[in-house]
Amino acid sequence: MQYHAFILKYAEIGVKGKNRYMFENALVKQINRVLSKVQGEFKVDKTAGRIYVDARNYDFDETVEALQTVFGLTGICPAVSIERDGDGKLPTYEKLAERVCRFMDNVYPDKNKTFKVQVRRVDKTYPMDSMELGRELGGDILKAFPEFKVDVHNPEILLHVEIREKVNLYSEVIPGPGGMPLGTGNKAMLLLSGGIDSPVAGYMIAKRGVDIEAVYFNAPPYTSERAKQKVIDLAKVVARYTGKVKLHIINFTDIQLYIYDKCPHDELTIIMRRYMMRIAEELAKRSGCMGLITGESIGQVASQTMQSLQCTNDVVETMPVYRPVIAFDKQDIVDISLKIKAYDISIQPYEDCCTIFVAKHPVTKPKVEVIRKHEENLNEKIDELVKTALDTDEILEIEG
Ligand code: ATP
Ligand code: MG
Repeated sequence: MQYHAFILKYAEIGVKGKNRYMFENALVKQINRVLSKVQGEFKVDKTAGRIYVDARNYDFDETVEALQTVFGLTGICPAVSIERDGDGKLPTYEKLAERVCRFMDNVYPDKNKTFKVQVRRVDKTYPMDSMELGRELGGDILKAFPEFKVDVHNPEILLHVEIREKVNLYSEVIPGPGGMPLGTGNKAMLLLSGGIDSPVAGYMIAKRGVDIEAVYFNAPPYTSERAKQKVIDLAKVVARYTGKVKLHIINFTDIQLYIYDKCPHDELTIIMRRYMMRIAEELAKRSGCMGLITGESIGQVASQTMQSLQCTNDVVETMPVYRPVIAFDKQDIVDISLKIKAYDISIQPYEDCCTIFVAKHPVTKPKVEVIRKHEENLNEKIDELVKTALDTDEILEIEG
């Protein structure tokens, strides 16, 4: 079956008036962006609460996959459109019935199914009303293919016939990703490690229409080039949804060694994490981000007890820290990781800086006051080291 259009659905709750206009424009922009990377000729139109994509010479699977990365879309309906004739007239009933039957025949080779015809007549000049049209078309489908059965309450196939500028036929609704369209100008800084959790956290916040910038703390030569490449690949996964991601690679080695040298080893992870947060906040401020994002989840590891979270949170002064997976079980995070195709990258066995410097018995109930006190051991050189780390920031533009 060759469809030559897609009708795209989005949830309209809360998008009224001016908001709706912005919402739709942001959606159209993202749709055009993802389709520009797919082979084919596409024309995206928004008319009367609908986004309509005319599609020619295209690959169906590739197009659907691209549209499924557009946050804000709730449904992707492959459609067949019947144009008006040269005089601007809608198709006659006979022509419409013939096309409807052909549609049902092509889309459903197996006709042992129940159906209902749902007509929506936006152009009221059409000589038959919706009820009548639905009834007649249903009758004609049954005449042509007696194996089909009508079920008006719970049909397996709900055939939509929309009488608009054109007549649109569609029956399948492929789920979209939901969420809110990107492009409102809001941005947050993701602390992106090579693990499973942080890419999922970034995806979840992006899904609320937030653009993502990311930072990775790298510890060469203790961590390998492949560990860095893994993070770049994960940034690419996020960028599939957001268009592009600016990725900061911060050389964290000297800071880590200095902490290792001056602070109790069982507090190493917490103190390191505090410096990551401080540097991420500084980068975020510089580039106009309105929050930080981490993949922390209560109780998952020693550095994520509530006491530890309090300690890492303690250093962030000017913006919220978003932790979208905070209450998720690992399996729930893995499920999303699989869905967004990050999982296979995340489980590659290249260790990040935390795994290497981690103490055998890290504190699980750190006290903020104690940690602050021990950080004073770093007073002599830490500001300079942080400054150097920020000054040598390597910035990569990652395309999706
Ligand atoms: P992840 O699966 O995201 O690596 P994790 O369960 O391994 O998380 P931790 O290692 O405790 O958890 O890290 C908690 C969070 O701190 C991460 O989700 C990430 O947001 C941030 N983080 C940790 N290490 C780094 C790093 N090297 N670079 C950037 N962010 C990091
Ligand atoms: Mg990790």
